[in-house]
Order: sequence, then structure tokens, then C-alpha cells
Amino acid sequence: NPRSTWEKVDEYITERLIPQDDVLESVLAANQQARLPAYDVTPAQGKLLHLLVRMQGAKRIMEIGTLGAYSTIWLARALPSDGHIVTLELDPFHAQVARSNIALAGMNDKIELRVGDALEQLARMAEEGVEPFDFIFIDADKPNNPKYLKWALHFSHPGTVILGDNVIREGEVVNESSQDPRVNGVRRFYDLLAEEPRIEATAIQTVGSKGYDGFVLGIVNS
Ligand code: SAM
Repeated sequence: NPRSTWEKVDEYITERLIPQDDVLESVLAANQQARLPAYDVTPAQGKLLHLLVRMQGAKRIMEIGTLGAYSTIWLARALPSDGHIVTLELDPFHAQVARSNIALAGMNDKIELRVGDALEQLARMAEEGVEPFDFIFIDADKPNNPKYLKWALHFSHPGTVILGDNVIREGEVVNESSQDPRVNGVRRFYDLLAEEPRIEATAIQTVGSKGYDGFVLGIVNS
């Protein structure tokens, strides 16, 4: 069973390369306790987000899809002292759990959690004249991915990094006749990326403790 190998290797990577961390473990435990869906990124993926932010030297991050703020905390920890992250969450209960986790991580000053439909929040942020972001993580409802990509471009500057999660969907992404709105959202996301001259992107397939999926990584051109 390849899946059990992926899980074992993910555990091995986590043991070797990801230091034991009481806060992050408490966050995952709190999410489980609250019965949130287990859609958080894996520790290895959380650390990838963290490393990308540090490599880029990003100071302003936007995340679409907070859940319990596990990925948010990985991202926020990569920020310098004057860094800021805005994270958007639709579900008030997820947001409540996220808020408590953010407080537990001592990150209230860095993380701004906005509750409500991301598309409405994004429109409001545009009205408020919110400044562009250096790094944007798209990880909410997949049918809206094409719209999130348009908003990500709105809130970007040359050099902004955009990462979109769950874009392989166990290979279903190549199923042209899929009836799954998430698969179709992701396919339209690729179409938009293909025709959008403002962004240069690739996608990487991944396996691990959360199965077979992958992410899109792109940079906004000058
Ligand atoms: N980024 C999180 C992590 O790795 O820890 C996981 C996010 S989970 C995959 C997706 C989240 O997006 C869920 O908490 C869901 O409630 C939220 N969501 C779904 N539709 C949304 C919408 N229209 N606006 C904002 N958030 C939404």
C-alpha cells in the first residue's frame, strides 16, 4: 500500500527535520478536540510555507482559508517583527478555534483574522485600500479558486508569491468530465494561470500523510 509508505516517510521527515513544538502540537490537538475537519497542512507542508516566506523575506502575507490557524501560525512565525498576516475564514466556529489558537501561540499582534465570506472580505479590503501582499496562500473553497486568483493579483505587486493548495486532488485534476465542483474550480484555476501573463507558475504533485495532492506556486511578474 503506497499510502502507508507515504505516511511513514512523512513521519520520518517530521521526526528528523521538524523540531517538536508544543504550541503547534497544542493547536492540532485543539482543532481535533473541536472536531474541525482535518484539512490543516501537514507539518512538512507548514514548514515549507514558513521557509518560502523566509526565503522571500515577505513582510505582508494574506491567507484565504484559516481553519484552526495551523498554517497561519507557521506563516506568521516566519515574519519579521514588523510583519503582518491577514487571514480570511468563513466559518465562525473555525474562526473561534483559530482565535484561541492564535492567542495560545502569542500571535495576536501579527495575525489579523477576518471572519466572513472571503470574496466579500476581499471586496471590502479593496474598498479600504489595503496594501498589496508579498505572499498569498490560497487554501479555502476550491470552486472559488479562479476568483481568489483574480483577487490575489489585485492585492499583489511584482514579486508577490502566490501559492494555491490542493490542486492535484488524487489526480482527478486531469478528469475533464469530473462532476466535482472542486476539481472544476481547480481546472479553471489552471486555465486562468495558463492565460494570465502577469503570473509565472508551476505545480508540484505531493504525497504524504494527507494522501496524494499538490500545490501551485507562482510569482507575479514585473
Ligand atoms: N489553511 C488551513 C491550514 O492549513 O491549517 C486549512 C484551511 S481549510 C483547507 C479551508 C478553510 O476555508 C475552512 O476552514 C473553510 O471553512 C474555509 N472556507 C470555505 N469557504 C470559504 C469562503 N467562502 N470564505 C472564507 N473561508 C472559506
